[in-house]
Amino acid sequence: MIFTVAIDGPAAAGKGTISRAVAECFGFRHLDTGLLYRAVGVKGGDPARAARELTPGDLARDGLRTLEAGQAASRAAALPEVRAALVDFQRRFARSEGGAVLDGRDIGTVICPEAEVKLYVTASPEVRAHRRWLEVGGDEARVLAEVRERDARDMGRAEAPLKPAADAVVIDTSAMAIDEAVAAAVAVVAARLGPAPA
Ligand code: C5P
Repeated sequence: MIFTVAIDGPAAAGKGTISRAVAECFGFRHLDTGLLYRAVGVKGGDPARAARELTPGDLARDGLRTLEAGQAASRAAALPEVRAALVDFQRRFARSEGGAVLDGRDIGTVICPEAEVKLYVTASPEVRAHRRWLEVGGDEARVLAEVRERDARDMGRAEAPLKPAADAVVIDTSAMAIDEAVAAAVAVVAARLGPAPA
């Protein structure tokens, strides 16, 4: 069965947790596409070359989850050559046999517009910054500034800007507990899959 769940949205909206839970629930494979851009961003040197020559080892290195790596990812992700180098791998993953969940910024709009389910997971910048601050600590105002800066760059870039696909189901997690958000996403996927064959 070919079945793609595309989950897009801004940083710290809950995409990662929801994606992992949906994949686990339906036995699908999961790809966190942000990790590809983070690995390119922290690799140094020419970002287009880093994207073309990305290895599994690059994706496993420490330090990819820091605020700095997020900023480096977002700068590299604005470059068309970087995005182009990562398209085929993501498309193949999305349409591989057995079902796939991909989370990112442009999965439903660019990578897999034919996805069977498209979700756009969002929350207010303040709520997202608070959640990120609980993980990383430090100065909450700085984390909020970082979230806003990354939103502006990801939504404002010319190439594959972050926006909901026209046919995406929007889940605003600002006032939701994580299990509520997961349940909402699982319900959308289950409805599209239909009843299991007898
Ligand atoms: O999701 P995550 O915070 O790990 O993504 C890091 C950065 O990578 C994002 O801010 C965005 O600029 C970029 N990205 C992207 N397209 C994706 C996934 C991530 O441009 N599909």
